[in-house]
Amino acid sequence: MIPQPSSRDQTHLLRLPNWLGDLILSVPAVRLYQSWLNGRASLVVAGPASLAPLAPILLPGLEYVSVPRWPMAMAADWKKRNVSAAVAFPNSLRVALEILPVSYRAGFTRNLRNGLLTEHRPRRTSPYGFVHVSDQYLGLLEDLGLPGGSRDLPPPPSLPKPSQAPANPCLAVFPGAAYGPAKRWDPACFAAVIRDLVKEYSWEPILMGGPGDAESCQAVAEAYRSPIRDLSGKTSALDLAHWIAHAHFVLCHDSGPMHLAAFLRRPGVAIFGSTEPAWTGPLGNTVTVARHKVSCSPCFLKVCPLDRRCMTRLSPEEVLTACRHRLSQK
Ligand code: SF4
Repeated sequence: MIPQPSSRDQTHLLRLPNWLGDLILSVPAVRLYQSWLNGRASLVVAGPASLAPLAPILLPGLEYVSVPRWPMAMAADWKKRNVSAAVAFPNSLRVALEILPVSYRAGFTRNLRNGLLTEHRPRRTSPYGFVHVSDQYLGLLEDLGLPGGSRDLPPPPSLPKPSQAPANPCLAVFPGAAYGPAKRWDPACFAAVIRDLVKEYSWEPILMGGPGDAESCQAVAEAYRSPIRDLSGKTSALDLAHWIAHAHFVLCHDSGPMHLAAFLRRPGVAIFGSTEPAWTGPLGNTVTVARHKVSCSPCFLKVCPLDRRCMTRLSPEEVLTACRHRLSQK
């Protein structure tokens, strides 16, 4: 069980997930931990440096420590902060090594690393289907002695409008998926949906994503066959959050931007294929999932060994219907 803090000088540490989407799915659990501590000890969160700029938006008021590549490099830092308990959400060996200098170390059960933790618990499962990742983080804390919690998101932060944002309402489109090509919908389908949405709602479409998404954005721009702004690779993670916060609609895959849109309560549609919405679906109720269920889904593969039918059988009409339905519920 997570030890009760014995003095305010102590620090508890939550090691956050490494991916933006998973980090957002862990926010309810982090808030539960914060409320359980109730100021009896300090709480710090740690994660990759790439996500540090978003921490003030996602977890306001908590100190975020960027972890270096070498997992043992944090030992002196944990000692200086008097970290007495650490709970890790990632289930990797590397993260178990990161928190090794802390006297109480807990996380999910995983064979190779169990000996490095002082306490481990299996991920929650259900005979009736998937347990949502957000509930798995909450479940881990509950299994370690905290009260149960719900996956409610905090109220969305108010973010300034990007200076380059158009005066017209904008449609933010994220055609990339860092996870792998199995998750990416056809560029021509994206272009068809953008065309119809622009015609119906007079939005200004903007292609967005990180540097790794430039190729996907370029492919959609070519299929669109009209001028379209492409900001892929030209915005920081923080800028992206500001753009999403001011987008009138977000069209994306099961990806970090989908979770960011849900966190910021923006309406949108997220395309799912090889992955499972019951497992990693968006929190809240502003983002609708569009999916053409096929018998091999979910496979969770990065590259499809078949014919990508989970993507190719999802038509632009189905996605448009999902968009219109989402907008009718605004
Ligand atoms: S195996 Fe099936 S679910 Fe997996 S990527 Fe291919 S078509 Fe999609």
